[in-house]
Amino acid sequence: MANSFDEECDYLFKAVLIGDSAVGKSNLLSRFAKDEFCLDSKPTIGVEFAYRNIKVGDKVIKAQIWDTAGQERFRAITSSYYRGALGALLVYDITRRSTFESLKKWLKELRHFGSSEMVIVLVGNKSDLIRSREVNLDEGQSFAQLEDLFFMETSAKENLNVEDAFLKMVTSIYDITCHKCL
Ligand code: GDP
Ligand code: MG
Repeated sequence: MANSFDEECDYLFKAVLIGDSAVGKSNLLSRFAKDEFCLDSKPTIGVEFAYRNIKVGDKVIKAQIWDTAGQERFRAITSSYYRGALGALLVYDITRRSTFESLKKWLKELRHFGSSEMVIVLVGNKSDLIRSREVNLDEGQSFAQLEDLFFMETSAKENLNVEDAFLKMVTSIYDITCHKCL
């Protein structure tokens, strides 16, 4: 996994964002990569990804995070999107139950196309919208426990837990993959 072409980092990890349209994937990514939030973000078109370097111990990991680029609206995510991905943030919107109900479908796809050791962090986004909540915290927790996923509620808008969610994914990938190849 060492990326010898880039002296700035010891490892390069690919991870993907997945989940229904408008759950906040692109805003989570821009928060993590650029610390930005955009209120009227439009569904993105075309393939997009962002990088960020993360230090784990004395190693520098370059996390390459892929965004669905709006294609999830048509459920037309291709297998190349998942290829080589070691981690995924599976996102739903706590104010829209239908996005929570879609999780099984997304998980099936992730497990079909992704590697069997893929680290999956379940993310219930928009935790700032307390009054419109349709999915309780313990429902997210139970689902994650049942499916053996990490779990966190986040707010891309208020920048709550966003860093933690991505870091959980990256450090877990590191724990699983890198210690094995040493
Ligand atoms: P995507 O389709 O999953 O990439 O979702 P976007 O990132 O484009 O966000 C969809 C909409 O939800 C946009 O209007 C965002 O401003 C809004 N949004 C995203 N995250 C949050 C959040 O944490 N809280 C609130 N209140 N709105 C959010
Ligand atoms: Mg998007």
